[in-house]
Amino acid sequence: MENKKGLVFSGARPTGRQHLGNLLGAIQNYVGLQQDYDCIYSIVDIHALTTVETTVDLKQNCLEMALDWLAAGINPDQSIMFVQSHVPQVMELHTILSMMVSLGKLTDLPTFKEKVRMHPNNVNYGLVGYPVLMSADILLYKANAVPVGIDQAPHLEFTREVVRTFNYRVGKQVLVEPQMKVTQFTKVMGLDGVNKMSKSLDNEIEIAADAETTRKRVMTMVTDTQRIRRTDPGNPDVCNVFSFHKMFSSQAEVDTIEQECRSAGIGCVDCKKKLAVNLNNSLEPLRSRRHEFESKPDQVWEILYDGADRARKIADQTMLEVREAVGLAL
Ligand code: SF4
Repeated sequence: MENKKGLVFSGARPTGRQHLGNLLGAIQNYVGLQQDYDCIYSIVDIHALTTVETTVDLKQNCLEMALDWLAAGINPDQSIMFVQSHVPQVMELHTILSMMVSLGKLTDLPTFKEKVRMHPNNVNYGLVGYPVLMSADILLYKANAVPVGIDQAPHLEFTREVVRTFNYRVGKQVLVEPQMKVTQFTKVMGLDGVNKMSKSLDNEIEIAADAETTRKRVMTMVTDTQRIRRTDPGNPDVCNVFSFHKMFSSQAEVDTIEQECRSAGIGCVDCKKKLAVNLNNSLEPLRSRRHEFESKPDQVWEILYDGADRARKIADQTMLEVREAVGLAL
């Protein structure tokens, strides 16, 4: 890899086809980071095993995610993009690190409690060690920086503590403490206007959805709930459709809609139609790139295998140092 400002690592669970929340909240950020950093982006399928009940779609979900990443502009010539399980060294590092983290610390983490609340019938051993695996993901590649939202800062602090513990125990600086690259992630609300956009809540718009499906989804969006009749003035400040206009329409159009909404000059149906047109226009180039990749899935797998080969080279070197440091027979 080229030596830019440093090495960024980020991983995302294979949730299949990505939606606008993923695009604006994470993927566009990944794309932008490529200019200044060497980037490693991992589709973390092993993490998915901690909570999924069936794995039948796992492989396809990895492919769908890769398609959206590539379509959005992640450049595999520039960045390493791969599937986590294709670099099995991460499981070895996870095992070694797991001996250095107290069980109480893991079960006290708010994220663990949240996962228990969400998956009460599947509180497995792997779920408890999830943050250790997440640390192994980052440390295996000696990443200098990890993009995190301010609310995720404690997760990375956990990884930094793991590094300090490890290096102290082995008596030398083997692992690298990653820095937080605090990032403003755009929070995209779902079609309901109440919850964050999420596939599980069925309130999403997929990046890859066709224009007609997208239009239909937009027409179901909740608007200003106080605006009952067409003749009532609306309040764009509380309307999710208006938030979307700010992301996908020109400034001139946003200004006009704001003024016409407040004076009841435009109805919500027309306002949504305009949004659907602008959204489809914005997504069109991305969709067409996706179609191209979709028609050549073998090529996409080759990109992922090649990424794993490059990642494995870095991982092999780190594991040599780790095994030697902890005294495992070489
Ligand atoms: Fe929202 Fe547009 Fe309706 Fe105003 S006119 S309430 S911005 S959908």
